[in-house]
Amino acid sequence: MNNAVIVLNAGSSSLKFSIYQVDAEELSLVARGQVEGLGTSPRFKAKDRSGTTLADADVTGTSPPQRFGHQEAFAHLVTWTRDQYKGTMTPAAVGHRVAHGGLDFIEPTIIDGAVVERLEKLIALVPLHQPHNLAAVKAVTCLRADLPQVACFDTAFHRGRAQVTERFGLPDDMFQRGLRRWGFHGLSYASIVDELKRTAPGLAMARLIVAHLGSGASMCAIRGGRSVDTTMSFSALDGLPMGTRCGSLDAGVVLFLLQLGRTREEIETLLYKKSGLLGISGVSNDVRALLASRDPLAAAAIDFFVYRAKREIASLTAALGGLDALIFTAGVGENSAVIRSRICKDLAWLGIVLDPAANERGHGCISHAGQTPSVWVVPSDEERVIACGTVSALRAAGKLPGCAEAATGASGA
Ligand code: AMP
Repeated sequence: MNNAVIVLNAGSSSLKFSIYQVDAEELSLVARGQVEGLGTSPRFKAKDRSGTTLADADVTGTSPPQRFGHQEAFAHLVTWTRDQYKGTMTPAAVGHRVAHGGLDFIEPTIIDGAVVERLEKLIALVPLHQPHNLAAVKAVTCLRADLPQVACFDTAFHRGRAQVTERFGLPDDMFQRGLRRWGFHGLSYASIVDELKRTAPGLAMARLIVAHLGSGASMCAIRGGRSVDTTMSFSALDGLPMGTRCGSLDAGVVLFLLQLGRTREEIETLLYKKSGLLGISGVSNDVRALLASRDPLAAAAIDFFVYRAKREIASLTAALGGLDALIFTAGVGENSAVIRSRICKDLAWLGIVLDPAANERGHGCISHAGQTPSVWVVPSDEERVIACGTVSALRAAGKLPGCAEAATGASGA
């Protein structure tokens, strides 16, 4: 019988999961996948660690699709795990990605009723993410109250930054009340630092910019393995333009839209769902589709994304006082040689020069040997950071015997 940690990353219409087998010394990925289409047409997909499909099927079951939410999805996952592994894989704990930990939650935290109450108070700060994260926590509590649960926070990696990097130019009492540049994608950044510690320890402590370019996008300046500054701030809207989110925006634009009579909901939908690459192009939020399109507005969207990325790299280099390595990660960063090349093209003045062949290969170091700053492609693995954090928090509390060591993200470094 093997103990398993289930990692959950809950969104509004999906429940992503990873299953890790917990041995005395290490965690090994067994399967990952998601239940998508929650509330509409739920579908369960799972792959093993080598990417072979284990399941891809509709899962309406007995409940009507509109009632198939996080709880039904988790129930399906538990049943599937039991059947797939013929009872040899026993869920021992659940680790959750939680968007916001505020000032108090930095370490991976064992969840109880009081913790849920405190995390609910942060919903106002991230209304599009935190409620779904907590819905998954409640789903697990309802179905399997016996399973210990641990929350790992996307804000945690950015705690401990110099206060000057956290402020807006607003009155101090607002800063004290939480109107600050929190930063997100912290689990991704922690996973990159962990990976560098394993594979390039000299680099792990150097001055880095990690470009997390996915459907959500941000960059982080990292020194000594810790966040120095980052482009996302109070919400997941700030900084780089994204698939459907606007990126940095003059607050005066929001005031103007209000003046035009737009409602709060309309503005929220505009900024989160109808802006960024999709908004500019009117074609797609997917970089692949934009690169393939002949529509001039598709080209304009890519131009804007590349331009903003360059500006942020230069700005974060100033925050670091120099740069030793630029690291690309996430869907666009890991897969698009064209975007990497276009971002780096005009950064030779910073010493950033790609090796075109290595960039096409797209893994490891993609700059010429000996070049500084070096440029890298490093896949991020947020789920492993959550699994490690879950195990270390539970082991420290004596609730899960004999497991792997904590990772960087687990300690919120
Ligand atoms: P993520 O949010 O990290 O899963 O990234 C998803 C995004 O990555 C998609 O919306 C695409 O825009 C982008 N993407 C994935 N594969 C490629 C590729 N081969 N070339 C360009 N963009 C890609």
